[in-house]
Amino acid sequence: MNAHADSSQRFLFDGADVRGESVRMGDALTDMLANQTYSPTVKCLLGEFAAAAVLISNNLKYDGRITLQARSDQAVSLVMVECSSERHIRGIAQGDICTDAADPMTLLSGGQLVLTVERDAGQRYQGIIAIEKGSLAQCLETYFSQSEQLGTRFWLASDGRQSGGLMLQQLPAQITDGEVRGEQWSTLCLLTETVRAQELLGLPSEDLLFKLYQEETVTVYPPAPILFKCRCSRERSAAAIALLPESEREEILTEEGEIGMTCELCGKTYRFDRQGLATESAGNTLH
Ligand SMILES: [Zn+2]
Repeated sequence: MNAHADSSQRFLFDGADVRGESVRMGDALTDMLANQTYSPTVKCLLGEFAAAAVLISNNLKYDGRITLQARSDQAVSLVMVECSSERHIRGIAQGDICTDAADPMTLLSGGQLVLTVERDAGQRYQGIIAIEKGSLAQCLETYFSQSEQLGTRFWLASDGRQSGGLMLQQLPAQITDGEVRGEQWSTLCLLTETVRAQELLGLPSEDLLFKLYQEETVTVYPPAPILFKCRCSRERSAAAIALLPESEREEILTEEGEIGMTCELCGKTYRFDRQGLATESAGNTLH
């Protein structure tokens, strides 16, 4: 394991209107996958979604989070990974999560990919695209070609224990000659096309960038850490319990003396007795 596992890194090409992001994940991914018994295929699927979510979140220009979600009528009904502007990730798959397939994306074929961008201040933006065929990277490229004016390409890999990825994105034009700009973009994409999955997973980010872009002058920024961290809380769990019918709450409290609420994303259980629930709801009214 290299010291920069669980981090993302920005890089820029000297003299070209292109920026890049590189991501590596190990422990953050295995921590995210530890709370459910996923098949190897579903782990790979979640691993690629996690790498993509981190790469996309690096576009956030404010505090908030992006959620990359796929829904389908196939074996896996939901895949969701969220990444905050602090690069805290969490995620889950639902449906037949023990199922395996040669190509992970077939578990979602015919479904929809939904990208949600949320700002802590409140605004929310959502875009949807059909999952037709091909990899998650191809699906995202189609999405970005429809929603952004700037070219965006992805290269993603996961073996279910680690994830790696690269993103290239055109910057707003500094170079006014459209032909030069177009050539630079296609050259850098062609160079990146040579990357193999085992390099995305096995090579330290800076070694990979050096290998791919030997002829280019690349400025690489310091790595930014990625952490598995859930946003669940005692307050939110109490609020969810408060939505249960009073008769149901009373029944559980009478029979068991407390109500437990387990977060599906991190496995943490919050327990409340009658007094605890009363305190939480009083707290909620005060704030
Ligand atoms: Zn949680």
